[in-house]
Amino acid sequence: MHSKNDKKPSIIWFQGLTCNGNTHSFLNLENLENLLNKFEILSHPSLPSTQDFNSITECTLECDIFIFEGTYDPLMKRNDTSISKIVKYYAQKARYIIALGSCASFGGVFKASAPERNSGLLFNEQEKSGPLLKYESKVINISGCPIHPEWLAYTLSMIEKRREVETDSLHRPIELYSTLSHHGCTRNEYFEWKVDAGAFGEKEGCLYYKQGCRAPMTHAPCNKILWNEVSSKTRVGTPCFGCTEPDFPRKNLFSTKTNMSIPEDIPLGVPKRSYLTMAGIAKTFRIKRLEGKLIDYKTAD
Ligand code: SF4
Repeated sequence: MHSKNDKKPSIIWFQGLTCNGNTHSFLNLENLENLLNKFEILSHPSLPSTQDFNSITECTLECDIFIFEGTYDPLMKRNDTSISKIVKYYAQKARYIIALGSCASFGGVFKASAPERNSGLLFNEQEKSGPLLKYESKVINISGCPIHPEWLAYTLSMIEKRREVETDSLHRPIELYSTLSHHGCTRNEYFEWKVDAGAFGEKEGCLYYKQGCRAPMTHAPCNKILWNEVSSKTRVGTPCFGCTEPDFPRKNLFSTKTNMSIPEDIPLGVPKRSYLTMAGIAKTFRIKRLEGKLIDYKTAD
C-alpha cells in the first residue's frame, strides 16, 4: 500500500503494429475506473491522458510502467521519431515494461507482414532476440490475442502494491500462465472419454480430436478467469487457438492434424505411448449418457 504522499505509478501505453485489440479488451474491464484511479496515465491511445502525444515521441518524459501493444517493427516511425528510439528510451527509464498481447510478446499476427524484421519486444517467437534484450529483467509478457482485461489488471495491481510478479521462462506471470486453457473447460468429461464434438457451437463433445482445440497444450487461464465473466471459447463450442503461445498464429486453426487418426500434438507433458494406451482403453467404452444431447428438447416435456 502507498502512503498518502506517495506518487501514483505512471503509465505510458504505446502502440506498434496493432489492431488495437488489447486496448479494446482492456476497456471492458469491470471496475476500470477504480483501477485507473490508482495510476497516472501519461499517455494512452483511447483514455484521457495527462501528456500530449508529441511529448511522448520527443523522448523527454519518464514513466514507471511502459506498456507496449503490437508487433515491434524497427522501421516504423511515430511523429518522425523511430519506434526503435522511443522503445529503447522508455525501456531504459521505466521500472517495468509490459509487452501486451501476443504481438508484443512474440511477434504474433503482424510478424507475418515482415517476418525477417518484425518481432516481439524480447522474443521472436520462442527465441530471445528482440530489441529489449538489454532490459530483459524488466519485461513482463502478457500474451494473448487479445489479452483478457483481468490479466493486465492483475499485473498492474501487483506492481501498484509493490509485490513481485513472478514469471515463467517466457516472462509471463506464473499466476496467470501456470495452468492450461484446458483446465476448467466444461467439456473435460468428453475429453477423458474421447467423445468428439460433432460440429462447432454444439454443447456436447470435445474439440480436441477434430476441430483443432489447442487448450491441452496452451498456457492460459481462459477457463478459470472467464470471458465477460461467464464464458470461454471452448465453453461455447469454438476451439482454443493457442493464442498465448509463441507459435501463434498457426495454420489450419480449425482442424486437428492427425496421424492415423491420432492427434499429432498430444496434451502437454503426457508421454505419447501412455497417451495412446489410455486413449485406446477409453475409446473401448461406450457411455450412452455422453453420446446423447445434453438437452433433448423433443423429450423434455
Ligand atoms: S474442448 Fe478443448 S479445452 Fe475443452 S476439454 Fe476438449 S480439449 Fe479441453
